[in-house]
Amino acid sequence: MTVLLATDATYRLLPFRFMRLDESDRGLLLTAETGEYLFLSEAQLDQLVNRRLPRHTPLYKDLLARHFIYEIDGHDPLPEMAAQYRSRKSFLFGGPALHLFVVTLRCNHTCQYCQVSRAPLGGSGHDLSAEHARHAVDRLFESPSPVLTVEFQGGEPLLAFDRVRQIVEAVQARNSEERRSIRFVISSTLHHLDEQVLDFAQEHDIHFSTSLDGPAFLHDANRPTPERDAHARTLDGIRRVRERLGHEAVSALTTLAARSLEYPEAIIDEYVEQQFDSISLRPLSPYGFAHSSRQRLDYPMARYVAFYKQALAYLITLNGQGIRLSEGYASLLLTHILTPFASGYVDLRSPAGAGIGALVYNYDGGVYPSDEARMLLEMGEAGLRLGSVEQPLETLLRSPVMGLLLSAGIAEGLPGCADCAFVPYCGADPIEHYARQSDPVGHRAFSAFCQKNMALLQHLFRLLRDGDDLTQRVLLSWLARRRLADLPVPGYRG
Ligand code: SF4
Repeated sequence: MTVLLATDATYRLLPFRFMRLDESDRGLLLTAETGEYLFLSEAQLDQLVNRRLPRHTPLYKDLLARHFIYEIDGHDPLPEMAAQYRSRKSFLFGGPALHLFVVTLRCNHTCQYCQVSRAPLGGSGHDLSAEHARHAVDRLFESPSPVLTVEFQGGEPLLAFDRVRQIVEAVQARNSEERRSIRFVISSTLHHLDEQVLDFAQEHDIHFSTSLDGPAFLHDANRPTPERDAHARTLDGIRRVRERLGHEAVSALTTLAARSLEYPEAIIDEYVEQQFDSISLRPLSPYGFAHSSRQRLDYPMARYVAFYKQALAYLITLNGQGIRLSEGYASLLLTHILTPFASGYVDLRSPAGAGIGALVYNYDGGVYPSDEARMLLEMGEAGLRLGSVEQPLETLLRSPVMGLLLSAGIAEGLPGCADCAFVPYCGADPIEHYARQSDPVGHRAFSAFCQKNMALLQHLFRLLRDGDDLTQRVLLSWLARRRLADLPVPGYRG
């Protein structure tokens, strides 16, 4: 016999979104505006929206606590929700915090996926001038952010080390009055590291970020040099940085070419062998390719997703064996899902991080809202230039390009995203949609950005719901940035 409960007129619904993950009895994912979530059955959702949920049940209490419903005679949930929402969007208050200086476009590599965002070693006209560098430092300090990251990009920035030196010294001199918290990072192959560079890095607390695409056979194929020794030289650079500046002074990023997708375990094993505690498994982006090689190097997102799931399973197994190695993108998404805080990651923000969170000072004195936007320039697309380093930050951020990016950069208002249960954890990437679909708004049904985030978020939510004890604990250890063995065990221990 079915008992129909009378409508409970004492509770009201708060705005939420939902998505069907599967047909199981907790197959519906509900997400609140605050980013809190619950898994429900279809019958429970039906009861909820028809206000027939019995009070005093655990589900009712969960829905109340997680801001899906409120009681008319209860406390006002809006101040709490507003505080949570404000924390999630706190990145908006600081202004651009990431400042990328493209000191040169010259490079000794001839990477297949980077044919248009580099220049030959001896090329001229591809270095940032001292005058432009001075202006760029002025723009940096016009940002109100109390925490700033100065990142040197190329090409290969160590080929223009005098300019790196000039900028670091100018920033530090100015900061003796400004008193901001400033972090310096050089993105480098580490092939041009010498004692002079290491001395300077030690003196000024500079960190390095390098590229390690896996074992030698993959890395050398991805990153050809005339001597065919890119992998060996990068490993030598990692060793030298660690010896001089400490183990944490160098991190590595992976670029996955089509062939890499066949070797998830080999790539991860290489990171274990080189004693990194984090790996970032990034798909190729559509920037910087010569048009002719794009079709050869690019791959369907579904292939990447299958690779990623296999890699994640392997990483969880390794962590269970006591090897600490987290995956960067999963850690970031878990921060978005399980905490009320902003991760600071500029590519997964709404409003979009380009320009608002990051600025790029190009070697030619142009200012761009992201590294991808300036790479599009090298492909012949100059439309995303904000202006020149000589213009004040306020003028740059009022440029028509920023207007365009913002009008297409708020995920909560975009077609497809507005109704998506993942929107509290996802972002808008108008530059990627512009690059791939020639439209900054883009169509989510054909969007590689959406396909990736949809698949990875679904996978992570399923792991959070169904994963065994080891999986849950490994994911939590990544979130907490702790070793699995150091993670407190919940509950009483007898
Ligand atoms: S990009 Fe896709 S996954 Fe992300 S919020 Fe929009 S529709 Fe959802």
